[in-house]
Formats: sequence, structure tokens, C-alpha cells
Amino acid sequence: MVRFTESTITFPYTRSLGPVVGAFMTALTEKRILGIRNGEQVICPPMEWDPSTGAELPRDLVEVGPAGTVDSWTWVPEPTEQHPLDRPFAFAFVRLDGASTPLLHAVDASSPDAMSDGMRVAPRWKGQRIGHLTDIACFVPGEEPQVDGDDLGPAAEPVQMMDYLARITYRNPVPPSSDLVVDASRQHRLVGFRCPGCGKTYVGGRGVCPIDSVEFGEEHLVELPHTGTITNHVVITPVQYPGQTETEPFARVFVLLDGSDAVLGYQPVIELPVEDVAVGVRVSAVWASPGEESDEGGGMGGAFGSLIGWMPNGEPPVDDPDLVNRIF
Ligand SMILES: [Zn+2]
Repeated sequence: MVRFTESTITFPYTRSLGPVVGAFMTALTEKRILGIRNGEQVICPPMEWDPSTGAELPRDLVEVGPAGTVDSWTWVPEPTEQHPLDRPFAFAFVRLDGASTPLLHAVDASSPDAMSDGMRVAPRWKGQRIGHLTDIACFVPGEEPQVDGDDLGPAAEPVQMMDYLARITYRNPVPPSSDLVVDASRQHRLVGFRCPGCGKTYVGGRGVCPIDSVEFGEEHLVELPHTGTITNHVVITPVQYPGQTETEPFARVFVLLDGSDAVLGYQPVIELPVEDVAVGVRVSAVWASPGEESDEGGGMGGAFGSLIGWMPNGEPPVDDPDLVNRIF
């Protein structure tokens, strides 16, 4: 049975909308849908440039819809939390009345049998509208627009900016060797794996030798010393994005363990000010008190198990110009 860890990366950002998309978003708060004239055509959602030639379009915005006709559709039987509806629905190209191009949106229909090319649909507006395409909660079969709950009215100001949260969740298998490393760390032991092929010692939770593809297990475990030398370092100045817990510049270091080939990457330092972090500084492992262990695995560097970081041990620094070439 392979165990997995789940991770989520989010990229929150804010974009300016410009005069055309901004007008479109503002109109949505007024329960109006705008297109832009491009010769004989009306493009909806409106664009600033002709999609065929790239020429700037005159700012001739016209109201379209609100009802329209389904050009084509696909059924979503199992919506995820990122879908617009929490029950099965259709994604459809809806050609709004007066528009030449279709708008992609959700249609709230009871089943695929209720969907067909050419069916008529109308928007179901959200009661609270903020100037986003999701101000249209979805489209519903029929000609009559609807409003969800109380209608709180249009935005007080023209909509000029949009918040956007890009997010991806992924799962990684956890090799058994990673659990061995973390379990040892909880007993205040540092262990590595010695490859019988190349004779090198690897640290962290990597499951295989990158040279010989030997799969590491308990039989390859070796004990490693708790002292070492900083070979490389980086100082990170934190940007205050949502979820950032660091407020001051902080260092991460690589530690070459004594009497071994093993370099631990991206380690936190303790009681070592940023300005004193340097190649050659001698450090010792610092272990957490019970209950303060890190949840992180040992696979990607960083603190793991009970190892919370490294602090200067008072020994004289090592003067070896070759240290900086040790990153693995
Ligand atoms: Zn090997």
C-alpha cells in the first residue's frame, strides 16, 4: 500500500481589467451583458482587439442577451469544489441574442436529457454581484432571467480590478525510506542510505540511488553525525503573500555532515543571525522538544521529524574553498 501526501499551491494575484473588460464586468453588476462591435459582428465577452487581425476595435459596446441559445454543451456529472455548481450541470457555449460569438458558462439542468443544441437559456444572476463572470451564477432553461436571493444592486464604483486565485492540488507517493528517515529523526537520530552500487551515502527521504537506481530500504541505513559545516546558504526576504508566516529575512543553509559525503539541503538555522551566516561555519543539530516536531517529510530538504535546525557550535570555522562546490 503506497502512502501519498497531498499538497496545494496557490497563486493569488490581482489584474487590472482595462476599459473594455472593465465595462463588461461593471455591466454584470447591473445585470446587463455587453458585447463589442467588430464590423458586422458582435463579440461577447468583448475584447479590445480584433481576434483575427489584432487591430484595435472602436469602443462600440452594445448590450446583448440576456437570453440566448445553446450552441454546444458537455455534461459534468461529478463537479469538484472549483466548479461553479455543486450538482451535476452542463458547460455550454451560449450564443446570447445579438451576439455573434458564444459565451462559455454553466447551465443548471436536471440531467443530460434536459440539454440540447439550440435550447433557449437565460441567466440566473447572483443577488450580490462584484463584477466577475460568476455574477452570472449559471444559465437556466427558458427565456426569463432569475436572481438568486435578495438583489443587492449594482456595484457602487466602476469595476477596474479583478482578484484571481490560481490553485493546483497534487499528490506525491511517500517512499518507505522517507518514513524511516522521519522515524529516526523523532528518536533524535540522523540516518542516511549507503548505496551498495556506488558506495555513496544519501540523506533525506529519497527512495532510490540517482546513479544506480538501487531502491533503498532498512538494510542500507547508516547513522550520521550530528555536526557539520555550512557549504552554501541563501537569505530569503519574505514577500507578504497570503499564507506567508515569515516577516523578517531568514536564512537557509546546506550542511555537509562530518566524516560523510552527505549534504542536507535547505536547513533552518537557529541562533545564527542572517548577517553571520557564512560558508565554513560549524553547526550542530537542534532537536525539538516532544510535541514540537515538524510534519514535513525528509524528501525535499528542510526540517523533518524532530530535527528543527542547526546552530553554531562554537568551533572555529572551516577554511576550505572547495566547500561551496558541495551542494549534493
Ligand atoms: Zn548508487
